Amino acid sequence: MIKRFFPVLLAFVLAFLDAAVAEETAIDYLALVNKLNPLPEGWEEALDIVSVTNSLGDEVKVERTAYEAYLQLKAALEGEDVHIDLDSAYRSVAEQEDIVVRFTAKYGEDYVRQYVAVPGYSEHHTGLALDLYLNIDGEDVYLNEDMVQYPEIWAKIHAALADYGFILRYLEGKEEITGYSYEPWHIRYVGPDAAKEIAERGITLEEYLINYDTFMTDLVKSYEEGTGTARIEADAAILNDDVAPAIVECWKKIYLDPEYKLNVYGTDDPAELDLYGVHAFVVLGFQLKDGEMTEELMGRCDAAAAAAKAFPDSILVCSGGATGDNNPEGHTEAGLMKDYLVEQCGIEADRIFIDEAAMTTAENAINTFRILREQGIETITIVTSSYHQRSGQTLYNSMAARYQKEYG
Ligand SMILES: [Zn+2]
Repeated sequence: MIKRFFPVLLAFVLAFLDAAVAEETAIDYLALVNKLNPLPEGWEEALDIVSVTNSLGDEVKVERTAYEAYLQLKAALEGEDVHIDLDSAYRSVAEQEDIVVRFTAKYGEDYVRQYVAVPGYSEHHTGLALDLYLNIDGEDVYLNEDMVQYPEIWAKIHAALADYGFILRYLEGKEEITGYSYEPWHIRYVGPDAAKEIAERGITLEEYLINYDTFMTDLVKSYEEGTGTARIEADAAILNDDVAPAIVECWKKIYLDPEYKLNVYGTDDPAELDLYGVHAFVVLGFQLKDGEMTEELMGRCDAAAAAAKAFPDSILVCSGGATGDNNPEGHTEAGLMKDYLVEQCGIEADRIFIDEAAMTTAENAINTFRILREQGIETITIVTSSYHQRSGQTLYNSMAARYQKEYG
């Protein structure tokens, strides 16, 4: 890697956070909220809540679409002489904070850590998770230990869920994946299409949602948010192959172990690079200022151009991303980088490949890797600033492992 030193870390992080907040303002009925994945930013502000009173006289709040689906489910079950009501649905993050304070005073910290959801990490914050109770022969049955006495009634309820867009959220035998014991009463609205597929496959929401793209996104988030390895280890367990754990190990070694020696060339003389194979210089993008390239980004392009001239058989790949809303017409900065490399640095246009579509770091790595595959590239040098070296090397090693799995 060729490095350029500029004090730009703060500006980069702030731009990324702005983009993340702006994206997440509508309700995503497939949002994953569990012990590892918090409620998305801006969720509670976007939530449309219905407030109803149950047969016990308690007020219950539910997201509007989920409530309408619940009413249809309830009516259908009544046709089978099964009667349900809502015990609890939406709980705000603030209410959960209150519960933690009250239970800590009453039962102590150990109890709270074991039995009370961390504020922000309860699926009930979504308004889409519903705890049901039963009415049997005119009697309300709402205590957990009583409700579990009626497996045949729950079986009828569970069989009807998918038609109305609900899933049974915490399945028996899937505690390792969901993080929760079996709860026959806790259902979750995800919409009819997803609900039918999830039910047919007999899987959890985690298994339905987690794939290699979300795994890579979580990997990027983990280093941007400094949240450690719990989430990517959980993803790897769900992907359940031999490549995902290797990626986690690669991440731990390169990114988290400060003793790990990166393969870095600290030189401004690219002729010193010891290259082999069909080679690409991958130039990582950098946010534009008023639609223009900054000195930082021009510095990276200059370094890449010098390297490309020293190795005439190599290609250049420009990858932008992560700062999409600062860029003109929703493109990445890669197009401008190419123009600069051709016009200012005199590189032949047919040696330059660009990714213009990526709006996040993860998409960026995925798209760039696709280009490298298509061009038959065997080795790469990442051209970036010093603070990116560790994350860059982690990501590209991870992508290499992934592609090895998919394409051999
Ligand atoms: Zn629940």
